[in-house]
Order: sequence, then structure tokens, then C-alpha cells
Amino acid sequence: MNKAIFLDRDGVINKDLSYVYKKEDLFLLDNVIEGLKELKAQGYFLIVISNQSGVARGFFKEEDVRSFHEEIQHRLIENNCSVDAFYYCPHYVKGVVEKYSIECNCRKPKTGLVEKAQKDFDLDLGECVVVGDKVSDMELAKNIGCMGIQIQGNYPLSTDYPVKKDLLEVSEYVKEITTFRIKS
Ligand SMILES: [Mg+2]
Ligand SMILES: [Zn+2]
Repeated sequence: MNKAIFLDRDGVINKDLSYVYKKEDLFLLDNVIEGLKELKAQGYFLIVISNQSGVARGFFKEEDVRSFHEEIQHRLIENNCSVDAFYYCPHYVKGVVEKYSIECNCRKPKTGLVEKAQKDFDLDLGECVVVGDKVSDMELAKNIGCMGIQIQGNYPLSTDYPVKKDLLEVSEYVKEITTFRIKS
């Protein structure tokens, strides 16, 4: 079985400009490349798990989400780095686009997307880590039963999970605790 880092997208990889979908609004956050490389070197799959309710809200289309993800991957590849997969939830129960305005099982902190990734990558969820900038990301970690790490951004902080400033700090922390686990 394998292990993965479940990465939130907005506020973890790229700047959270609120319902961002245009390529010109893609700004990678500090130390993203370095952090992803370090996590990869530790043997993790890098899997983006993202709520994109802007689709249900009628702000943009699924094609926009996918081309934004292609652009992220492109920028990473330019820096000799990449993520292994992008999973997103386009739903929102109070949306305006009928097709997407449902109570789904994949909007975080629900676990539908993680369960899909678990099958696709044969993951041992107990060895996985959720990284996000919202308390709801930490709720996802709790619902999966894995470790959670919150990145400090524009949102209230959880009191139950460690807080780090960027993905490089996250990678250092993950290394530290997994080394400790092996020793003990
Ligand atoms: Mg976020
Ligand atoms: Zn969904």
C-alpha cells in the first residue's frame, strides 16, 4: 500500500483569490515547489483534493477548473516537480446550476474524493496527511482518521492541529514526526 499527501488547492498551492479560475490569477505560494519536492522525496503521492463550488454557483465551468489544474501542473513541471492527481468537487447544495446543486458525498469535509483517490492509488489512509488552510480541511482529516496540518492563511485556525506557514515547513514537520514514529 501507498501513502499520500492530500493537498487542498487554494491557499495551499496557489494564492486564494476567492473562486480563482483564470490562468492570469494563478500565483504559486512561497516554497510550494520546494515543499512538494521534499514530500515527494519522502515517498508520498501528491494528490490535490479541492472544493470548487464556483461551478455550482455559476461562476465558472468544469472546463475552467480542469484548465486551471493543467496550468498548475505546467508551472510545476517547469520547476521539475509535479502532482500525481487532481480531484475536485463541483457541487454546492445551494448553487444555481441545477446539475451541480446537490447534496453530494464529495464536498469536503465529506470523504468521497479521498475514497476515490484511496482506490486509484491503493492508499493506506492511516499513513496519509491532509494539508489545508481551513478548519473544514482539518475536519476532513478527522473524518478520514489521518493526520492534519493547517497552513496559516486567511482563515480561522484549528486548535487541534499543528499550524505551519507553508508547504516547506509542512514537509519538514512530516519528516520529523514520521522519523519519530519509526524510532519509537
Ligand atoms: Mg483552501
Ligand atoms: Zn461533490
